[in-house]
Amino acid sequence: MIAAEPTEALYQLRGVERRYLKGAAQVLALSGVDLDIAKGEFITIEGPSGSGKSTLLQLVGALDTPSSGTVRFESQDLSRARDRALTDIRRKRLGFIFQQFNLVPTLSAADNVAIALDPGVPRRARAVRVAELLSAVGLAHRANHLPTGLSGGEQQRVAIARALANHPEVIIADEPTGNLDSQNAADVMALLVGLRRDTGVTLIVATHNEEVARHATRRIRLRDGAIVSDTHQDPPSVVAPLIPPAEEPLRS
Ligand code: ADP
Repeated sequence: MIAAEPTEALYQLRGVERRYLKGAAQVLALSGVDLDIAKGEFITIEGPSGSGKSTLLQLVGALDTPSSGTVRFESQDLSRARDRALTDIRRKRLGFIFQQFNLVPTLSAADNVAIALDPGVPRRARAVRVAELLSAVGLAHRANHLPTGLSGGEQQRVAIARALANHPEVIIADEPTGNLDSQNAADVMALLVGLRRDTGVTLIVATHNEEVARHATRRIRLRDGAIVSDTHQDPPSVVAPLIPPAEEPLRS
């Protein structure tokens, strides 16, 4: 059984605060955050701009450490881990997706995926893995295109393939549909939901998109750096299928 009801704790946040200095003033971006995240959950982080969503994603993404409190990822306390350990976790266990796609403009879709692969993967295996990843996101036929030759939805699908390169256990996404029209947003969401169903990956997604949030198993709302609601829900079981990409027209 894959992606059944989550049971094992993956993250445990306790008394988490994150303060920033803004000039002479201190900004409390997160305060008093206690949160457990289980394996296989699909969590949306919602709330107005400035409520602390990105800050929270950076902490669970091992990109930042709290000013006080603890962030545990399984047995590891990320708040005390060395940079090297954090880098290792990011590279081997987490995958990231951003609103702006963050693809390298001078590299093809295939190379954008390839650069994310663990350097230890041998050359031949790399090509196979890249092809497999691009096919999984329906973009095998776009492998040699530069990002500028791809639509926004296709660019985000390349970014998803890149995020999946090293078989992450968690995908962390900051407004992944924020730059997409509703059809492409629906495709990206269907892809993420399908991935969770097929691989049991944990999804942690900051979003303003109600349609994305409707498919989550749990919705967390932030306001002024604090969790103001945390609701479990049964997502709809049927997700619109990813529209298969049109084949290149055959020459007659
Ligand atoms: P959201 O993602 O919900 O828009 P953020 O986590 O980006 O919220 O920001 C929360 C608060 O922390 C905001 O007041 C923001 O201005 C502040 N903040 C975020 N990052 C920094 C930073 N690097 N330096 C100073 N203040 C920051």
